[in-house]
Amino acid sequence: MTKRTVVPGEEVAVAEEYMPDRGTYEYDGKIYSALAGELELDKENMVARVQAANPINLLKSGDSVFCRVTDVRPAMAICEIIGTEGKDRAITGETSATIHISKLSSEYVQEVGKEMRPGDLVRAKVIQTVPSVQLSTQEPHFGVVKALCKKCRSPLVCQGRSLRCDPCERVENRKLADDYGDVHF
Ligand SMILES: [Zn+2]
Repeated sequence: MTKRTVVPGEEVAVAEEYMPDRGTYEYDGKIYSALAGELELDKENMVARVQAANPINLLKSGDSVFCRVTDVRPAMAICEIIGTEGKDRAITGETSATIHISKLSSEYVQEVGKEMRPGDLVRAKVIQTVPSVQLSTQEPHFGVVKALCKKCRSPLVCQGRSLRCDPCERVENRKLADDYGDVHF
């Protein structure tokens, strides 16, 4: 089997010799790569396939992700997903997501802004991917994992069920993940 690196649109074989398979397509008697990756010309089965260089990391329901809150509205938090927990690969596709007020906590939430603030780092569970990415932080392990003081930008430390800024002697509230402060990036 011959292997080499190819780019999308590159001619990799002729249709007389090979059949297109995963990652390739036929056009006008020639086989082209649809992906960037490693070409495999399988002489035995007479197929040409391309293995993607970076296997895609598509979000799916149930995934645990880390995201940063970019905006807070009365009924939802807007987030940018940074990565999937336990995976090094970047996410392929949509990284903008929302946490609706009803999915933020298992307890009643009056206003999203009282539980999350722009800049907060949050662990959330993907509950929907199409047509938009929706996240939930209802379970104890989900919620804010790192937050900065609104006034002085010092990291807030956990104090019971609240967060405290020592320099300002202020207390802020968040929907906290059960391991707040212990998550390192
Ligand atoms: Zn402060």
